[in-house]
Amino acid sequence: MEDHPDGEWVVQVVTGSATDRSYRCPGCDQLVPGASPHVVAWPADGLLGAEAALADRRHWHRPCWDRRAARRPRR
Ligand SMILES: [Zn+2]
Repeated sequence: MEDHPDGEWVVQVVTGSATDRSYRCPGCDQLVPGASPHVVAWPADGLLGAEAALADRRHWHRPCWDRRAARRPRR
């Protein structure tokens, strides 16, 4: 669980699984190979319900997620 300016996020570090799937990293718009270590994060607020939150999971490169966490935009 991490606090971010846009709310709380559930964050999981995955070490990579035996899959050929890859995902689009929201941080850099490049592919994240599912077989490589990366970060999975989704909103913890549960406004849309747990199932929607699961569907909203995002796969990030570790450095991209760290950059996002460090950015902390302020109005
Ligand atoms: Zn990335």
